[in-house]
Amino acid sequence: MQYWHKELETLPREKLEQLQLERLKKILKRVYQKVPHYRKKLQDAGINPSNIKSLDEIRNIPFTTKEDLFVDYPYGLLTVPIEKVIRLHTSSGTTGKPKAIFFSKKDIENSAELIARCLVMTGATKNDILQNSMTYGLFTGAFVMHYGAEKVGIFVIPAGPGNTERQINLMRDFGTTMLHMTPSYTLYVASVIYDKGIDPKKELKLKRAYLGAEPYSEETRKKIENMLGIDIYNCYGLTEMNGPGVGFECIYKDGLHIWEDNFLMEVINPETGKPVNDGEIGELVLTTLNREAMPLIRYRTRDLTRIISEPCKCGRTHRRISRILGRSDDMFIVKGVNIFPQQIEQVLMGINGVAQNYQIVLDSYDEMIVRVEIDREIFDGKIEKLVRLKDEIIDKIRSATMVKPKVELLEPGTLPISEGKAKRVIDKRTI
Ligand code: ADP
Ligand code: ZN
Repeated sequence: MQYWHKELETLPREKLEQLQLERLKKILKRVYQKVPHYRKKLQDAGINPSNIKSLDEIRNIPFTTKEDLFVDYPYGLLTVPIEKVIRLHTSSGTTGKPKAIFFSKKDIENSAELIARCLVMTGATKNDILQNSMTYGLFTGAFVMHYGAEKVGIFVIPAGPGNTERQINLMRDFGTTMLHMTPSYTLYVASVIYDKGIDPKKELKLKRAYLGAEPYSEETRKKIENMLGIDIYNCYGLTEMNGPGVGFECIYKDGLHIWEDNFLMEVINPETGKPVNDGEIGELVLTTLNREAMPLIRYRTRDLTRIISEPCKCGRTHRRISRILGRSDDMFIVKGVNIFPQQIEQVLMGINGVAQNYQIVLDSYDEMIVRVEIDREIFDGKIEKLVRLKDEIIDKIRSATMVKPKVELLEPGTLPISEGKAKRVIDKRTI
């Protein structure tokens, strides 16, 4: 099968690590020679790239943080002349000024190659039709997936996000078999499909969906899988590391494989910067091993996860990470307790009667208000009657987070719909 590079994907660990070391040395030499900011960092730490003998020595190299991307902005981290750059992508700016990442021709080809591997890993073939409903533009999500799918020979419908009616018509008219969307938008699209009385299992040809760009729980995956009768694969990436396709699930859907010939991964304690014990949760740190225009060394993603070292049933030797818990900066504190939005999502999506949309409002340090839309099926115009449902939500959130929330049940369609990354937390305390 094309793009199932069996030998590379199942390379014995020892050989894979040898390949990583060779690539690491090469990339360190390049940044040392070409990027004054990195040269200074390496010199200050007393590191000479030629002397590196083992992968562990990477721990002596200082981290690259988001702030480093703004030193000598915008072109200061390039290792190639600007004539070799063929594309700019920026992050979506969820947390501040967007980060700018530059791609050479080789980088574009390589990012497509990695996505091609990912798609094939889930069973996609050139007979599939992909409706790519991420934003085309500065955001990496749509373009990188598009190029990767084309590489496999997949027929791509560049739908972009939004206009849900049109999305559903595209699926129906052209026989879409695969979707690429954010999980929050997919939940919404699935609910509209239902409201229109369309039976997705009979009237649509959907087989699988690649959902990513924001954290979501196993409960959300199951909810959408059941609604649409499809397989959902978690797809993780960030602009700084090419965009989607950094971590991707295989057919076993048990953690996301990281292509370790391209990325060197570490998980650290975000407070101390030291590696966590094997399998413990911490912040994912990635080094690009195969990037030409703008290599990044020990980049702190701020995403929280853990490494799964046990071999995967699919036979690939590239290790997996668990689904992303959230970003270290997504966490909020109420009554002195640390809470991730995903904990709330996990509870809500497991409760019958809760629809796809919710919002967390924080206007004091002592209270968390959770606003929840309820399913059309149980809504008969009298929300105040749904006491049992409300109590169930309060109880389950309290036991998941240790904080008793104030819950507001809402009519379906009350909250704003997100077509891209959802904004679930309204923190009025920091505005
Ligand atoms: P921004 O940092 O502005 O959101 P990006 O658009 O590059 O920029 O988004 C990358 C971030 O999106 C990741 O660092 C991560 O926090 C989140 N993300 C992407 N895919 C997933 C996923 N499958 N699960 C959880 N979070 C994800
Ligand atoms: Zn696997």
